[in-house]
Amino acid sequence: MYPDADFVHVGEIGDATEPLIEILDGLDGRPEGPQQVLTTDDRLPLNRFPMPAYELISIPDYFLASVQFSSGCPFTCEFCDIPALYGRNPRLKNPEQVVAELIGSGSAAPSRSTSWTTTSSPTRRRRRTSSRTS
Ligand code: SF4
Repeated sequence: MYPDADFVHVGEIGDATEPLIEILDGLDGRPEGPQQVLTTDDRLPLNRFPMPAYELISIPDYFLASVQFSSGCPFTCEFCDIPALYGRNPRLKNPEQVVAELIGSGSAAPSRSTSWTTTSSPTRRRRRTSSRTS
């Protein structure tokens, strides 16, 4: 997959991410040799995701801002690959993160549109209860 890419990061931010950043920081031009694939085994909890570096982009150039607030899903809808990709344990950002990202991305401005991004259904399974009448 992506044979022209020098590096492929597979999965969410996690234990593969920092090594990739270190490799990229050490490069002085395109690397020689075969493609390197770094795969996340341990995902970083969403509440430890770093704040996006909004200061590096021109926010007005973007039509839509995107703020992710959850990942993972406990359900197993047969057509959906989200549980396999992001796990079956729903993870959420905390309110302070979400507010900071809304402000940082300019989404808090009345004229901006924001896409709420979730890779899952953030609902939690409820225990089924039954009631009997006799
Ligand atoms: S993310 Fe939505 S469609 Fe996918 S398994 Fe969860 S509830 Fe089903």
